[in-house]
Amino acid sequence: MRECEVCGATDYSVIMAKERMFGLGGSFEYKECNSCKGLFLLDIPMDLGSYYPPNYYSFKEYLASNPLSKILKKLRYKAFKSRVSLRPPSYFDWLDHLNVNEKSRIADIGCGNGQLLAELSYCGFKSLEGYDPFLHESQEFDGFSLKKIDFFDIEDKYDLVMFHHSFEHIPDPVRCFEKLVEILNPRGEALIRVPVTDGKVWKEEREYWFQLDAPRHLFIPNTKSMKVLADRFDLELFNISFDSLDSQFWGTELYKREKSYMGTDIRKEFSKNELLKFKEKADQYNELNCGDQACFYLRKK
Ligand SMILES: [Zn+2]
Repeated sequence: MRECEVCGATDYSVIMAKERMFGLGGSFEYKECNSCKGLFLLDIPMDLGSYYPPNYYSFKEYLASNPLSKILKKLRYKAFKSRVSLRPPSYFDWLDHLNVNEKSRIADIGCGNGQLLAELSYCGFKSLEGYDPFLHESQEFDGFSLKKIDFFDIEDKYDLVMFHHSFEHIPDPVRCFEKLVEILNPRGEALIRVPVTDGKVWKEEREYWFQLDAPRHLFIPNTKSMKVLADRFDLELFNISFDSLDSQFWGTELYKREKSYMGTDIRKEFSKNELLKFKEKADQYNELNCGDQACFYLRKK
């Protein structure tokens, strides 16, 4: 009996899943801890890189804003800080929960094309580094840099370390937290945005759940697993907010229809009204803490 790496419990359920984003199929075994409800891929494929084909979404080139747009984005950030902003972008909400300023050293783990770092640089943030082992090469841009370095090989220290849907792609959550603590400055903070098994869709639809995303998702936590991890590493988990999307419904429905995500036009699969309803339902689920993804805010005590 293998025990849960996170909480140590030995009681778990097994679930089989297929690769469905690209329709590659296969058979992947996950175990769900019956105590902390964390979900683990049992055997990580040797050829995991082949499940990240060139059309994987994070490999697109980042879109640089034009000079006027950059100025407007900086003004919008200044207005937001003065509490007069209307309809702010989602990263303003994350920053609002964190104790960061323009001089803070910020790392984005699994940064993909670096779009978020580019946006933060337009707002005036000056120390921005992205890490992603799947980049073609390391690159310096005006205002930020992207490094082709594995998370576990990072040597610098940061005031804020962010994981925007990358934590679930990193093997071994315990080692991941250990490394996180190592690269955080004193009073440093972390933002982990990740799918969670608290989601009603996971509970109801199991292997068809859009964000199970076998075999790319190696570990999917529950809010319980994240609390256990924070306690184990003496981090303060000071806020949790659900930010799930309409894709949890249409994506899961596509998979139930045995269709892959890539190559399917959702506007042909669902009516405008259905898509609108999915958006409203996602907002409701987030309010009830049963959406399929959440933001975890942690800090070093
Ligand atoms: Zn557990």
